[in-house]
Amino acid sequence: MDAQRREIVDGDIVIHGGCIVHVGAPVPVASGTQVIDARGCLVTPGLVNTHHHLYQSMTRAVPGAQDALLFGWLETLYPIWARMGPAEMRVSAMAGLAELALSGCSTSSDHLYLYPNGARLDDTIEAAREIGLRFHPTRGAMSIGRSAGGLPPDSLVEREAAILEDCIRVIDAFHDSAEGAMLRVGIAPCSPFSVSRELMRDAAILARDKGVRLHTHLAENEEDVAYSLERFGCRPGQYAQDLGWTGPDVWHAHCVRLDPAEIALFARTGTCVAHCPCSNCRLGSGIAPVRAMRDAGIGVGLGVDGSASNDQGNLLAEARQAMLLQRAVSGAAAMSAREALEIATLGGAAALGRTDIGRIEAGARGDVAVWDMQGIEAAGSWDLAALLLAGPMRVRDLLVEGRPIVAEGTLVSTPLAPIIDAQRRMARALAG
Ligand SMILES: [Zn+2]
Repeated sequence: MDAQRREIVDGDIVIHGGCIVHVGAPVPVASGTQVIDARGCLVTPGLVNTHHHLYQSMTRAVPGAQDALLFGWLETLYPIWARMGPAEMRVSAMAGLAELALSGCSTSSDHLYLYPNGARLDDTIEAAREIGLRFHPTRGAMSIGRSAGGLPPDSLVEREAAILEDCIRVIDAFHDSAEGAMLRVGIAPCSPFSVSRELMRDAAILARDKGVRLHTHLAENEEDVAYSLERFGCRPGQYAQDLGWTGPDVWHAHCVRLDPAEIALFARTGTCVAHCPCSNCRLGSGIAPVRAMRDAGIGVGLGVDGSASNDQGNLLAEARQAMLLQRAVSGAAAMSAREALEIATLGGAAALGRTDIGRIEAGARGDVAVWDMQGIEAAGSWDLAALLLAGPMRVRDLLVEGRPIVAEGTLVSTPLAPIIDAQRRMARALAG
C-alpha cells in the first residue's frame, strides 16, 4: 500500500521510534533489535476502522433487535443503553477494541452519542490506551427526544449548549494534531433525526474553529431519506451541504442511499464515506454504491459499525463483505481483493484525514499486521488475494507505533479473559 502498490517478496520492514524507516531488501540486524520472523506470512498495513459504536459490544444479538429495520432496532435498544454507565462504557470499549485488534485493525474511530449515568468520552479513551490502538473517538450527541419529534427517548438526550461545551472540553483535553498522533478527537452529532439543524450547524463551525473532523450517520436507508424529505424538505446530501457538513474534513457513515447528484457533491467537496457493509446487510438497509463512489474519486473507508448491528467487529471480514457486495450488484470484476484491502487501509486513513497510516512505506507509522498464510484457511491458495478470498480471519501479530499489541494470535497489551468476564457480567445485568 505504498504509492506504487508494490508487493515485496522476502523483504524486511524496519521500525524505529514508532516509525517505519526501511521497507524492501533484507538488512543486517542491529544488536538489541527485536525481530519478528514473518516467514510464511503476508504483512499488510494495520487496518483502519472508520465507524463504530464500541459501547454496543455489550448488546449483541439482543432478541427484540435481531430482525428489525434501523428505526425499530433503535427503539428496542435505546432503553437498554440508557441503563449503561461509565464502567459499561469502558469495558465495552475494551472488548470492542480487543476484537478489532485481533482482526488486524491498528486504528479505530468510535462514535459515542449517548452519555447515560455519568458516562464520558474519557471512559473509552482510557480503554483505548489500555488496549494500545490508535484511536479517533468522536464526541457524538443526541438532542431531539421523542417529545420533540425525534426518535430517542427524552432520557437519552442532552442540552445542546452542554453538548458543545463538552466537545470543547474533550478536544482541549485529548486531541493531538501532530504527525503520528495516537489520539484525535472528532465532533459527531448522531444523525439528522436525533439533533437539531442548529446543532448540526454549530458543530460544523466549532469543528473548523478547533481543526478537528466531523462525522455523522447519513442516508443510511430509505426511512432515513424519507425523514429528511418530510422534515427538512430535501435529501440528506442537500441537508448536509446547507449546514456545512461537506468538505475534506467530513466523513459520513453508511451513505447507502446517496443518489448520483449526492455522489457528485461528495466527490466535488472531498467529503469522505465510512462504508459499513455487514451492518447494512444486518439491518436490511441496502448496498452502498461504493463502486460509483470510488469511481467518482470519493475517499471510502470501512466501518464495522456498532456490535448491536453487525454483530462482529472483525475488520478483515468487513473488507471481504465489501468486496462481495459490490460483486453481487455489479459483477465479479466490480471489486478485486486488492482494492478491498486498499479501502481497509489507505481508504480508512483518508477518511480519518491521515497520511501517516494505512501504508507500509518509509516515513509512515509502524502500524503493521502480520497474517499467517500457512493455516488451514489459506492452504492451497495460489495468490496473496487469499487474504480476503480465503483467510485467515485473525491476525498473527499486530504492531501499533512499533509496539506489539497482538503476538502469535494473542492480545498481549492486556489480558483478554477479565474483559470477557466483565463484559458477560455487565451484559447480564443490563438484561435484568
Ligand atoms: Zn453507526
